[in-house]
Amino acid sequence: MTVRRRQPAPAVPLTLRSPVSDLPNCAASSVKALDRLGIRTVSDLLRNLPFGWESFSEVAGVGSLEPNVPATLTCVVERVVAKRTPRRGIRLSEATVRDDAGVPLKVIWFNMPFLARQLAPGDRLVLAGTPKSGRYGELELLNPLHEVIRDGSRPPRLGALQPKYHLTQGLKPQRLVEWVNAALPLADGLADVIPAATRQAQRLLPIAEAVRKGHQPDSEAEWREARRRFAFAELLELQAAFLLARRRLEAESASPVPYRQEVIEAFKRGLDFRLTNAQRRSIWEIYQDLEKQEAMNRLLDGDVGSGKTAVAAAAAAMAHHAGLQSLVMAPTEILARQHLNRFRHYLEASFPDLRVELLVSGLAAAERRRVRLAAASGHCGLLVGTHALIEEEVELAALGLVVVDEQHRFGTRQRELLRAKSRVGRPHFLCMSATPIPRSLALALYGEMALSTLDELPPGRPAIITRVIPPDDREVAYQLIRREVGAGRQVFIICPLIEESEALEAKAATVEFERLRRQVFPDLRLGLVHGRLKEKDEVMRAFQAGDIDVLVATAVVEVGVDVANATVMAIEGAERFGLAQLHQFRGRVGRGAQQSHCLLLSDQVTGRALERLQLVAQIQDGFRLAAEDMRLRGAGELMGSRQHGMSDLAMEALHRPELLSEIRQEAESLLAADPGLNQEPALREAALRRLESTAIS
Ligand code: ADP
Ligand code: MG
Repeated sequence: MTVRRRQPAPAVPLTLRSPVSDLPNCAASSVKALDRLGIRTVSDLLRNLPFGWESFSEVAGVGSLEPNVPATLTCVVERVVAKRTPRRGIRLSEATVRDDAGVPLKVIWFNMPFLARQLAPGDRLVLAGTPKSGRYGELELLNPLHEVIRDGSRPPRLGALQPKYHLTQGLKPQRLVEWVNAALPLADGLADVIPAATRQAQRLLPIAEAVRKGHQPDSEAEWREARRRFAFAELLELQAAFLLARRRLEAESASPVPYRQEVIEAFKRGLDFRLTNAQRRSIWEIYQDLEKQEAMNRLLDGDVGSGKTAVAAAAAAMAHHAGLQSLVMAPTEILARQHLNRFRHYLEASFPDLRVELLVSGLAAAERRRVRLAAASGHCGLLVGTHALIEEEVELAALGLVVVDEQHRFGTRQRELLRAKSRVGRPHFLCMSATPIPRSLALALYGEMALSTLDELPPGRPAIITRVIPPDDREVAYQLIRREVGAGRQVFIICPLIEESEALEAKAATVEFERLRRQVFPDLRLGLVHGRLKEKDEVMRAFQAGDIDVLVATAVVEVGVDVANATVMAIEGAERFGLAQLHQFRGRVGRGAQQSHCLLLSDQVTGRALERLQLVAQIQDGFRLAAEDMRLRGAGELMGSRQHGMSDLAMEALHRPELLSEIRQEAESLLAADPGLNQEPALREAALRRLESTAIS
C-alpha cells in the first residue's frame, strides 16, 4: 500500500463569509479558540476590535532595553533554530539577533517552531516585546511580535501602537495580527448597519474605515473613534431588535383587563399594611397596560423586600375580576411555596372565590391531579409553581396573566409554550427582578419591556449593619456569628466566587464547609448547599425550619429565600463579587424585626477593592448602589459575569447614559418611518439575528 502524501491545501480566496479555517496558518485548535470568542467567519474577525493598545516605543539598540519595559527594536537575524524545552518538551524557535551596532540579543518564541523555517540569517526584523531578565541576568525577548523588513516592503506597522486582542487558550496575539492583516482588504465589502443619514448626523465612521482604524490606528484617537462607532452600531442593533420584538407582540391581541376601582379598594382592605408609594405607582402602571388590547410586557424591578409580590397580587386580583387566570412561576420549589402562602395571605380575605393553588414536583400524585384539574376547569384562578412543571403539565384555558419571579427575561420558547395554553389570546407578562439597575441600563438590556421600579422599601425596616472585615479580624466575624447563634438566630456564610466552573466552586465550598465545621464551629449545626448538590431544596428547607444554625453556600442562595430568623450574612472573598450581587446577598437578612449584619470578608483590603466594598457598607439603596457602581466601573462590571448578550465595548459606551436614549430615539424614528426596516436590510438582518440568538421575544 502506498501512502499518499497530503498535498498542502491550495490557498482559497478569502471572502467575508469564509470560515476562519481558510485564514493562513489557522489550525483546528485555532479555529476552536476563535469560536470561543464568537469568531467564526472572516467578517467576525474584522468586527472583533482590539480592546486596548500597548505602546512599544522605539529604542536605538539592545543597550537601551530595560527589563519589563515594552520596546521596539530593529535588528538582523544572526541564527535561528527550532528546539524543544528540555523538561516539558515545548516546541519553540530560538534566535540570536544583533542590533545595528552589533550587540546581540536572545529571542525566544514559544509554540512557534515554524518561525525557525520562515526566518533566515540576514533577515532584517522589527521586534516589539517586553524584555525579561534571563537566568544569568542577561536580557531576552520572549514571544515578541515581529515583522520582516524586505526590500520595497511597506514601512512596518510595529512601533508605537500594538493591538491587544481578547485571547483564549491556544491563540497567539501575533496570529491575530496576521489574520487581520490578511482580512483587512475585504473590509470594504462589509455591510453597514448604521444608515448613512444617522452616520452623518452622529459623525460616525463608515464601517470599513472603522474596521481599518480599529485594528490599525495611527493614533489612540482613531482607535477610540472606531470603537465609538462599533458601540453605537451594536446598541442600535439591540434597540432595533427590541422594537421589532415589541411589534411582534403587538401584532397579536391579548384579553384586555378593564380597570375596576372596587377591585383595588378591596385588595387594599385585605392587606395588613399600607402600600408604599412605589407599589401604588407600579400597580397603576400595570393596570394601564392590562387594559390594552395588546399584551403587557413589563419588568418590575425592585430591591429584595421592596414588596414585589403584593404588586403582582394586585394584578392577579384585577385579572381574576375580568374572568382571567393568572400563573406565577418561581425558580425553585421553596420559593413557589413561599409565594403560595403570600398570595393566599394577600388575596383570600377580599377575594374568597379566587382560588390560589400550588403545583410543584414535591406534591403527591393525587394532589397534583386535583390541582391540574382545577387549573384546566378554570376553578383555580391563580396557580403558583416552578417553571419546569408548569410548562409541561398544565392547561389553563383562560390564562390572562403570567408573572415570572426572579428572572429578567423570559425565553421565547417558554413564552410560546404558555401562549399555546391560553385560549384568550396572548397572556400579559410581568417579570420581577430583584437586581436593581439604573434605568439607562434597563433600557439597554431589556429594552423590549416597559419598566416599573420599586425604589422604596416598606417603612420600619432597620438598616442592615454592613462592615468590611480585613483578614486579621476574621475572629471578630466568627464571634459575632457565635453570639447571634447563641441568641437563637441563623447565619449565612457565602463562599468565594469561582468562575472557572461549578465543579471547582462546589469543591472549594466543601473544603470551606469542612474547615468551619471542624475547626471553627464544631459545636454549631452547619449545613452546606452548592450548585452541584441534589438535595439543595432539602437543605434549604432544614435551614428554613431552624434545624441548621449556619448555612454555608455558594452563590446559589442568591435566589430569594425568606428566612426571617437569619440575621448574619457573611461573604467570603467579597471583593470577587459584583456590588449588585453583594447587595443581593445582603437582602437575604434583615427580613425580621431583629438587627441584622452583613460582613464582607476580604483578603484584598487595599485601594480600589476596599473602596468598592465600602460603598456597599455605606449605601443601602440598591438603585443608588448600582448607579454608583456603574459610574465607577462601568456597566459590564456592574452586571458581573452574568450573561447579558452585549459586548464589553457596548457596555463601556453605557457610561454615557444619554447616548443610549439618543440611540433609542434613532431606532424608534427609523422603525416609525419604515416598520419592516426594508430600507435598511443590514440593520434588519442584524436585529433579527439578535432576536434569535438571545432570549428577547
Ligand atoms: P420582594 O419579593 O420584593 O423581595 P416581598 O414581596 O417578598 O418582597 O415582600 C417582603 C416583605 O414585605 C413581605 O413580608 C411583605 O408582606 C412585606 N411588605 C410588602 N409590602 C409592604 C408594605 N407596603 N408595608 C409593609 N410590609 C410590606
Ligand atoms: Mg420576591
